[in-house]
Amino acid sequence: MQEFDVVVVGGGPAGGQCARSLAKTGRKVLLVERHKDFAINSFSSAGTPLETLSQYDLPESVVGTYWNKFVVVTSNQQGEWKTPEAIGAVLDFGKLREFLANDVQAIGGEVWMNCRYVSHSQNTGQTLVSLVREGEAVTVSARVVVDATGPFRAVMYGKDDPKPEFLSGTGIEYLIEVSDEVYQRYSDALTFFLGYKWMPKGYSWIFPMAPNRLKVGAGIINADHEFVKQTEPLKHYIHLILQDYIKSDYTLIEVHGSTLKYSRGLQDVYYRKNAIAIGDAVSTVNFLGGEGIRHAMQGAEIASKHIQTYLDRQTDSFQDYQTEMHRVFLKTWNLSEKFGMKKYLQDCDEIVDKVVTYLRPLSLEDVVDILFFYRFEKVSKGLPQYLRRKLDSFWTRVVSRWRKLSRKAIAS
Ligand SMILES: Cc1cc2nc3c(=O)[nH]c(=O)nc-3n(C[C@H](O)[C@H](O)[C@H](O)COP(=O)(O)OP(=O)(O)OC[C@H]3O[C@@H](n4cnc5c(N)ncnc54)[C@H](O)[C@@H]3O)c2cc1C
Repeated sequence: MQEFDVVVVGGGPAGGQCARSLAKTGRKVLLVERHKDFAINSFSSAGTPLETLSQYDLPESVVGTYWNKFVVVTSNQQGEWKTPEAIGAVLDFGKLREFLANDVQAIGGEVWMNCRYVSHSQNTGQTLVSLVREGEAVTVSARVVVDATGPFRAVMYGKDDPKPEFLSGTGIEYLIEVSDEVYQRYSDALTFFLGYKWMPKGYSWIFPMAPNRLKVGAGIINADHEFVKQTEPLKHYIHLILQDYIKSDYTLIEVHGSTLKYSRGLQDVYYRKNAIAIGDAVSTVNFLGGEGIRHAMQGAEIASKHIQTYLDRQTDSFQDYQTEMHRVFLKTWNLSEKFGMKKYLQDCDEIVDKVVTYLRPLSLEDVVDILFFYRFEKVSKGLPQYLRRKLDSFWTRVVSRWRKLSRKAIAS
């Protein structure tokens, strides 16, 4: 039986980064992924700020395109923010995960593709991990098992264990090929659609992926809305963008998607004995933006540090890991959850339109600070200008009415 310091289950951004980090420090690591390659299950739109690349030492080869523009379209409004320089990237999700797995191998770790985690158990002081590798049952031993299985939380909850209630969101995305002329219209922008017309209970989007290739998707929160009682299947909203916004011929290359499961108030199980959960398995995806790649990688880095301490026998519990994760994420995630619930499940359409009105006076850097770095206090920067404009238009109406009335009075 093969013995490992750490078995990481799930080759997503969290699992890949965690295995990579631990392998770098010389630990004996096995990364297992149930799919046979990373082109399968390439579900994520993978938009991210530019910092992600340097922060996690990611090469140019995992980047699909760069963006320097942000567009928000609501039922009755459209806002655009632009900078001369690129401030974000759209990653190729398949290539990102492949790069992380290749790096694990290059540093001396093992990666088993087409390998599904089944269960783990304790036997004479050893933790045995049961896997099915290319159809064959295999058992390995590990000192630590990492749950990086995203929404499945397969290690933390056995197949038949009851799971707590999660808030879930489902996203579907079309990868399409378009003409040069159409591609140029969207090539440097993340375009988001909000509001009842485009995507009640969520948002939809157009991201540039590669020359002549766009990702067009829609995501919905699977919960009741205060006002919207009925929605259409997700594909309806993607077709709406294709027909009413892009308005051009396209070739469908691929359809992919996934369901995210988020624990409100970050109530997830972070560890059980020597099993520890990372990434979406502990709700690192941000509820407001549905952005999770760099947060999954950040959580993986934090976990790697605590796993080192555990392997060095300086602790026998992962309680400090949970405490640190809550310190880093809890406050911001609670706020994001509050704003997200309001925006996607409570606001009437006029209020959704006002998002654009409030944000319009801000720079792209401010908008990115709010939406990607959760600096929500910056929203109020746009408010005085919005109120001033409202007041100006009120006084213009009063003065013009007063003038009309005076003219009438003079004439009579
Ligand atoms: C439609 C959509 C669009 C998104 N767009 C963005 C975006 O633009 N930007 C962004 O940052 N985030 C985006 N996200 C969120 C982001 O993709 C996730 O937050 C991120 O992938 C989480 O990483 P993870 O490694 O925790 O989990 P995952 O990426 O879900 O990886 C889990 C891995 O575990 C494997 N696995 C599961 N069970 C087993 C098992 N039993 N044995 C072995 N392997 C197993 C799975 O196959 C998978 O590869 C999007 C999500 C969706 C659904």
